[in-house]
Amino acid sequence: MRIDIDEPMAAELFWEGMREVAAGAARHQDDDLYRAIVKIGRDALAQGSELVPQCGLFLQCPVCEAVAGQRCINVPGNPLSDDVLHPERVELAEMALRGDAPLPPPLRDE
Ligand SMILES: [Zn+2]
Repeated sequence: MRIDIDEPMAAELFWEGMREVAAGAARHQDDDLYRAIVKIGRDALAQGSELVPQCGLFLQCPVCEAVAGQRCINVPGNPLSDDVLHPERVELAEMALRGDAPLPPPLRDE
């Protein structure tokens, strides 16, 4: 898969599409589809695509436990303010997609 990284909104559009697929995977509880998404995400990164904060939507939030594809919710001690996602979730997604952290369930490579 090739991504035109010169298109100004390319990264946003790409991850937006990925987010929609992730939401579908969550709805159908399709672990294989999740794994495919992560693989595509890693390929995109390897080709120079940029991560955007929305890529945090791929994974379950470690703070509020919002599932993949769903926005974070306010929890005591971790208000969201204007953010759609908890920063911890964005950080986890970046590290997991870069391979610097293990993927959380249900994606964990056994
Ligand atoms: Zn959250």
